[in-house]
Amino acid sequence: MNLVKRYKNKPERMSKKMNNQTMINMGQEYVMNTYGRFPMGLVKGQGAKVWDGDGQEYIDLVAGIAVNNVGHCHPEVVKALAEQAGTLIHCSNLYWNENQIKLAKAIVDNSCAEKVFFCNSGAEANEGALKLARRWASRQGKPEKVQVITALNSFHGRTLGALSATGQTVYQSGFGPMLPQLTHVAYNDLDALKAAASDKTCAVLIETLQGEGGIIPLDPAYLEGLLKLREQYGFLLMIDEVQTGMGRTGKMFGYQHFGFEPDVFTLAKALGGGMPIGALCARGEAAQALQPGEHASTFGGGPLVTAAALASFSVITGEKLADQAAEKGRYIMDAVKSWPGMTGLIKEVRGQGLMIGIELIPEGLGAKIVEDCRQKGLLINCIHGMVLRMVPPLVIAKEEIDRALQILQDVLLSI
Ligand SMILES: *Cc1c(COP(=O)(O)O)cnc(C)c1O
Repeated sequence: MNLVKRYKNKPERMSKKMNNQTMINMGQEYVMNTYGRFPMGLVKGQGAKVWDGDGQEYIDLVAGIAVNNVGHCHPEVVKALAEQAGTLIHCSNLYWNENQIKLAKAIVDNSCAEKVFFCNSGAEANEGALKLARRWASRQGKPEKVQVITALNSFHGRTLGALSATGQTVYQSGFGPMLPQLTHVAYNDLDALKAAASDKTCAVLIETLQGEGGIIPLDPAYLEGLLKLREQYGFLLMIDEVQTGMGRTGKMFGYQHFGFEPDVFTLAKALGGGMPIGALCARGEAAQALQPGEHASTFGGGPLVTAAALASFSVITGEKLADQAAEKGRYIMDAVKSWPGMTGLIKEVRGQGLMIGIELIPEGLGAKIVEDCRQKGLLINCIHGMVLRMVPPLVIAKEEIDRALQILQDVLLSI
């Protein structure tokens, strides 16, 4: 058979030749309509900047939603990927691979974790955490200990287990029934937690700074009560660090602001330097809960993604990006709080490190602010139309921050 003929209908090469309009047209024709997308496609990124299909440049305060912590196309990540791509891209977890072992060690060396399981996303890491908690309880001969408590307003992912854990009915409606024995209680409400917890609770899963929930910080007094309940009922305390992890909040992991050790924590988003990877990290008995054959992932922790993750990890530690996040975050929050003329517009500025929320007062203005910023060359995200979220690359330069703040301030003043 003539090869040329056979491949006559070869897929369009995804090259930088597609402009915005072509991407919009073809995307709408062929890609499932699960996102409300902006009328643009991105074709290139460098540090804290990205470019669209028409060549327009943007400062990126979204960073792929808290993913590109080391910036777009960090040279160390690019180099690690290129080298590994020519060496070994995939092998099964039936065999060891060096990068996975080194990445597990890097996580263990920088946290309270003793063992790590790798998967491919945040939802999957949280699925793993739910399974781990139940297996841990059943291993103790307590098959009735199956309840998992999570917080209202939380976000843990879109697979059915992670979605059941997510305390926002808006994401669940139409997909029921959710998993049984998943209880949601108000975040930071100790009485609600006390009322829900019992000997049948195998785990409490929370974020130390709610991300998709609107950048809501954990109350230390609530945490103190939660730790007492953990002692009383003997459940696992599991922290979803998918968004807060990898230096984002000014520490390597969000829980490290609070002086306690979770039994389990999950990672994804920024872990792979832009590549898709998730991790389930555990200590003590929880680290032994899953035994051979009880949990698995074909792609999890493969040599290519873990090469990128290792490179990204060493950039985060080497360039002290967590410290940089703390400093830059303070700078941004102080600046926004000092803006004149914002009464009636901004209700509160809050956050940790470079995970910052600006709560707006007028309802429904979020989308317009985001769109006006976009047209002026600034990408920013808005949660539930109410809270502007800034999660830029941690490497963002001072000049880029200043330009971004100038654009945002101008847009807010013109509202
Ligand atoms: C994004 C996010 C998830 C889901 O991660 P995916 O990789 O999209 O599955 C889970 N938990 C938190 C806190 C997140 O921010």
